[in-house]
Amino acid sequence: MPKGKLTFEYEKCKGCMLCVAFCPVKIMYADKGTLNRSGYNIIRLTDPDKCIGCATCALMCPDSVITVEVYN
Ligand code: SF4
Ligand code: SF4
Repeated sequence: MPKGKLTFEYEKCKGCMLCVAFCPVKIMYADKGTLNRSGYNIIRLTDPDKCIGCATCALMCPDSVITVEVYN
């Protein structure tokens, strides 16, 4: 079971990749096949079940794209 559930406001993403770089379990990636309206690749998870709910991605994101719902 995942420890967290992510929600993205994709249109606010500016493709800085900080979330991808700092996710401790390395499950985040930029989907090269999907762009938001600003032309940046949408960030997705390779394996949502591996999320540990740390919310590092949300804390690092300069544009408040990511919300993490943490499961207890
Ligand atoms: S909450 Fe933590 S483990 Fe889950 S995607 Fe974000 S940085 Fe990775
Ligand atoms: S940190 Fe935020 S703005 Fe940067 S790529 Fe991730 S979701 Fe997009």
